Amino acid sequence: MLRGTLLYLSNNRQIRYTAENFNLAQRASSRFVAGTTMDDAVRAVRDLNKQGMLASLDHLGESVETEQHARRAAQDYLDLLDRVQQTGIQSNVSLKLTHFGINIADDLAYELVASVAERARKYGNFVRIDMENHPYTDRTLAIYRRLREAGYSNVGVVIQSYLYRSQNDIRSLMPLGLNVRLCKGAYLEPVDVAFPKKSDVDANFVALAKLLLSPEARAQGVYPAFATHDSRMIEIVQLYAAAQKLPKDSYEFQMLYGVRRDLQRELVKAGHKVRVYVPYGREWYPYFMRRLAERPANVVFILKNLLKD
Ligand SMILES: Cc1cc2nc3c(=O)[nH]c(=O)nc-3n(C[C@H](O)[C@H](O)[C@H](O)COP(=O)(O)OP(=O)(O)OC[C@H]3O[C@@H](n4cnc5c(N)ncnc54)[C@H](O)[C@@H]3O)c2cc1C
Repeated sequence: MLRGTLLYLSNNRQIRYTAENFNLAQRASSRFVAGTTMDDAVRAVRDLNKQGMLASLDHLGESVETEQHARRAAQDYLDLLDRVQQTGIQSNVSLKLTHFGINIADDLAYELVASVAERARKYGNFVRIDMENHPYTDRTLAIYRRLREAGYSNVGVVIQSYLYRSQNDIRSLMPLGLNVRLCKGAYLEPVDVAFPKKSDVDANFVALAKLLLSPEARAQGVYPAFATHDSRMIEIVQLYAAAQKLPKDSYEFQMLYGVRRDLQRELVKAGHKVRVYVPYGREWYPYFMRRLAERPANVVFILKNLLKD
């Protein structure tokens, strides 16, 4: 119920505009967002790198409505990749197609992501295309496929275990040598496309994780990243990978900035590859609301901290 309300509010433009320009709200967002500037983001990644973790930088923004805004977003990512290269921090980038103009035209989004993939390739770096809500699934996978077929092997995509279709999607993408982040899924979805029960989402996460680590997937060059803070999911992946004697660098774990830092450190200590998703920028509202929706107790936690100051 509260999850649904928070996700509904995450799409409200008026609240978004007010919150993003309101200091107190901005302070609340700092629990999950590294800061508003590229300098803040670089600082956060340096700190993670010191702790033995990798990062994926996300310059926040989504649902842009003009070509000019989309082109601006792509330019920001080009600058970001230059900055990663200059500073030597260990980070790739994650981006959203609605930030890159897919609502204006799929070809525009393709062209802009290809330009970012090109710059990343020049630096030996990597671009992850985040997955948004289900109206974008087919179009996102089509753009991913197009990029791979155009030779951009440094691009990856995301699959969500809450969607019924995900097993078929993985199977159809595996022959590309799929580079995939598996997550549960963060959006409000109707029951005709997504499992309404969390236990089914979890069971599907396990089934898909096993598929991604299977000999069949490995033979096709699949590289999986398991993006979850759920210690049960993580343990299952660890046990399954160990039973198959998979080297620890043949997959990775991913978590969000500011979430389960204890678990992030524990995994590094156990010799696992851990990548932290580091969002930064001024357009933090929808991202922040999705984080509250994942764990409504965060609302109380954040309010308490604001009242303390
Ligand atoms: C690196 C990364 C990238 C992602 N990319 C995408 C994407 O492209 N598309 C997409 O739809 N979703 C994405 N997600 C979000 C994901 O789909 C889930 O919504 C989110 O990770 C919560 O699910 P969970 O697997 O952590 O498990 P849950 O079962 O939701 O949570 C397990 C435990 O983790 C902790 N936890 C989970 N979320 C929070 C939180 N917000 N604050 C504090 N504690 C928390 C709690 O202890 C909770 O009990 C991404 C997640 C990660 C980690």
